[in-house]
Amino acid sequence: MGFLAAAAVVVVLAGWARGDAEARALERLRCPTCAAPLETRHEHAVASMSGRQVWACASCGFGKVAPLTCAGCAT
Ligand SMILES: [Zn+2]
Ligand SMILES: [Zn+2]
Repeated sequence: MGFLAAAAVVVVLAGWARGDAEARALERLRCPTCAAPLETRHEHAVASMSGRQVWACASCGFGKVAPLTCAGCAT
């Protein structure tokens, strides 16, 4: 049981580290997969949908969408 618990903790920590590295890469506008420059665009909120931020890598096809509401988004 102890071993399984330890393995679970390692898996969780690895997941955090990955998420962290990805977040840092997105901040620097670098692809977390291939380190090419990322294209980013913001889609303002419309009546039926909240605002969102889109990152896309033209080199490897990496893509990520996160909800993001900016000051210019309709409320
Ligand atoms: Zn917006
Ligand atoms: Zn890429």
